[in-house]
Amino acid sequence: MIDLIIENVGKIVTSKTIPWRTGDEIETIENASIEISNGIIVGIKQGNSNSQAKKRIDAEGKLVTSALYDAHTHMLFYGERSWELSLKLNGIKYDEILKRGGGIYSTIEATENASDDDLSNSLAKRLEQAMMNGTAGAEVKTGYAKNPENEKRLLRIIKGTKSVINTKSTLLMHVPPKGLDRETYIKRMIDNLDAYPDFADVFCDKEAFTPEESEMYLRAAKEKGIGLRLHADEIEYIGCSDLVNVLQLKTVDHLLKTPPDIMKEIAKSNTAAVLLPCTALSLMTKEKPNIKVLREEKGIMALGTDFSPNSWCLNMQTTMELSTYLYGLTPLEALMAATVNSAYALGYENYGTVKIGSPANLLIWKIEKPDWLTYWFGENKIKSMILNGTILY
Ligand SMILES: [Zn+2]
Repeated sequence: MIDLIIENVGKIVTSKTIPWRTGDEIETIENASIEISNGIIVGIKQGNSNSQAKKRIDAEGKLVTSALYDAHTHMLFYGERSWELSLKLNGIKYDEILKRGGGIYSTIEATENASDDDLSNSLAKRLEQAMMNGTAGAEVKTGYAKNPENEKRLLRIIKGTKSVINTKSTLLMHVPPKGLDRETYIKRMIDNLDAYPDFADVFCDKEAFTPEESEMYLRAAKEKGIGLRLHADEIEYIGCSDLVNVLQLKTVDHLLKTPPDIMKEIAKSNTAAVLLPCTALSLMTKEKPNIKVLREEKGIMALGTDFSPNSWCLNMQTTMELSTYLYGLTPLEALMAATVNSAYALGYENYGTVKIGSPANLLIWKIEKPDWLTYWFGENKIKSMILNGTILY
């Protein structure tokens, strides 16, 4: 017997391919029922399903899609920095905020002073909040420790945190710590890769790590079979995104300053371009990635919240909305970027689509037309969420 049938689905919208690259790879099924057993989609029927089922729910003619995936977060840290916002609004530069005891070093201090339990509980709460906004899986990065040894502690906490949704861990080279030379820092971070995070990542940018330093760390990760990600071209273009031609990166993220020729290379590769419009909003910048090139060259566009003390957003629906209004993604592009392509960017094979054999991680929306996914903004548009075949809400 089938475990669960979702009846009266107005429209299913999903990608035909994993990852999704272009318009004609989108499939729409109208008037359908979805059959789920053991957490997997086992049938998609036109009209009503005659199968026997333990439970049936009525989608009331609404839109059903895959649940959302958050391809980029810094969810593990302690404290908050809301007081910096009014300083930023008064035109006070980041250097001055640092001098006044704010900025990243204050987050590092708060994180160092928090117990493992405090950090784990705050992470679990954030993951739950993300889930309430439709997220079925998220990446969580380290990056707020005072030395490489403590980065390992953060990785252990990420791996040990119990969450209803799926998570992937990333060991991030974020900022060179005070009182340790860069070479020693990188060597010790390479040693930490023995703890096998799902991914290695570097904040490659002006005043962070150079492309050469990033390559050194990522090569060491690659040798261990660890997936590679890269923060690239957020503040300045210093050659970081060029690494897409050198290493097989799973993702390159931010891309606000990426030159068109490099964007073309990214689009032609199997590397996902992770777009983070919440960050552009909180940076109060008008910069945006070159979406035109990504679209024309059929690149893999993915989305992430980039939740951090600087950009307090755990909501992938908001991220989709901003991808439309700030970056110019169509509602369907935003959906593909936040489902199948974000799942791909996280290394979840076979996730993010509504197909027989895929995990039943689904959203029943309050809307009927896909255009409303980003046309309507500022409200929770999800009626019901199903994770591994279980109705969460
Ligand atoms: Zn980031």
